[in-house]
This record gives sequence, C-alpha cells and structure tokens, in this order.
Amino acid sequence: VFRNKLEFFAAAKVSSSFPPPVLPEIAFAGRSNVGKSSLLNALTRQWGVVRTSDKPGLTQTINFFRLASKLCLVDLPGYGFAYAKEEVKDAWEELVKEYVSTRVGLQKVCLLVDTKWGMKPRDYELVDLMERSQTPYQIVLTKTDIVFPIDVARRAMQIQESLKKNKSVVNPVTMVSSKTGGGIRHLRTVLGKFARF
Ligand code: GDP
Repeated sequence: VFRNKLEFFAAAKVSSSFPPPVLPEIAFAGRSNVGKSSLLNALTRQWGVVRTSDKPGLTQTINFFRLASKLCLVDLPGYGFAYAKEEVKDAWEELVKEYVSTRVGLQKVCLLVDTKWGMKPRDYELVDLMERSQTPYQIVLTKTDIVFPIDVARRAMQIQESLKKNKSVVNPVTMVSSKTGGGIRHLRTVLGKFARF
C-alpha cells in the first residue's frame, strides 16, 4: 500500500472540519521534532508531500493524507515544544482528544518517541487519553541511528515495562531510523495490514 501515491487532502483545526471517515486511518503523534514528518516521508518514499516542520509547535492542525483509496495517514500536531503557551496546549488537547477518542475508522495511533530522550510526561498524558478511550496504539522509537544499539534495546525494554499494565498498547515497541531506513520495512508491513484492498 505504501507504493501508492501519497496525497494531502484535508487539514483540520477543529473537529467539525475533520473529513468524512471513509478510509481506515493510522495516526502519527509525538513531541515536536521527534521525527514524525521524516518517518512519514520514509514510509511512503514520497519526499516533500509531508513537510518537515520549520516552526515546531506552531502547527496546530491535523493533516490528512491518503494512499490511493486504501489507507489514510494522519499527521497529528506535535506537542511539548518549550515555548508553547498554555492556550496552545489547551487547543492541542481539545483537538487531539476529540480526534483520538471519537474518530471512526481510526485503526491505530503510532506514538513516536525519540530513542535518546525516551517518554516524557506529555507522552504519558497522550497514553492515558488513548487508554481511556480504548484507542489502539503502538510506540515507535525514532532516530535509532544516533544511539548505540544496546541503548536502543534498553530504551525499548524500559518503555515496554512502563506500559505493561496498559490495555490498548497493541504491538511491541518498534524501532526505526528514517535516516538509515532501519525498521521502516517492518513498520510498513505492520501498518499495511490495515489497508483496504
Ligand atoms: P517532526 O517535527 O516530528 O516532524 O520532526 P522532523 O521529521 O521534522 O525531524 C526533526 C529533526 O530530526 C530534523 O532535523 C531531522 O533531520 C531529524 N531526524 C528525523 N528523523 C531522523 C532519524 O531517523 N535520524 C536522525 N539522525 N535524525 C532524524
């Protein structure tokens, strides 16, 4: 499915402008700068359709992309940027909460976590939200190329341990590098299962 042309088709600042949920959807979430745009580019091999953010923390829209009429990839706004104001945080929360807890067709959220830094309180807030709404999610460790393999494995184990009582986490921690391509094929396989054929 990731060989299909990636097409941007909607952006939403409020839930009333979400497009009709006609395709299975996979959403991508994470802190600003976690490597979300790079991962979407690497998964689809279509550079430039998803723009890498030059103003982190300021884009508070949910962006919808489709791969033909098979799968929808959803770019959730990044969070946790140091200078973001309270009202930015509130707006983010309302928008993402609404999306994550009510979206029909949402198959899974990939929560991206920087391998070097691990999970932060804001990541756990999102995890709580998904647990409460029973939204399936998986953790994807990013930028594994800048950390020693032993530390990547340690980080994965540490996160796995911290989530072991959670019910909606659906896959083991996945590890990727958009730079070297490591883990990308595996993630394509995991996510491709949700596509419509
Ligand atoms: P976003 O804000 O989550 O969309 O993050 P971006 O995809 O824009 O990436 C943020 C920064 O991390 C950029 O400078 C990227 O070049 C870098 N980056 C993203 N993925 C990787 C990776 O796999 N390895 C390394 N070393 N750097 C990465």
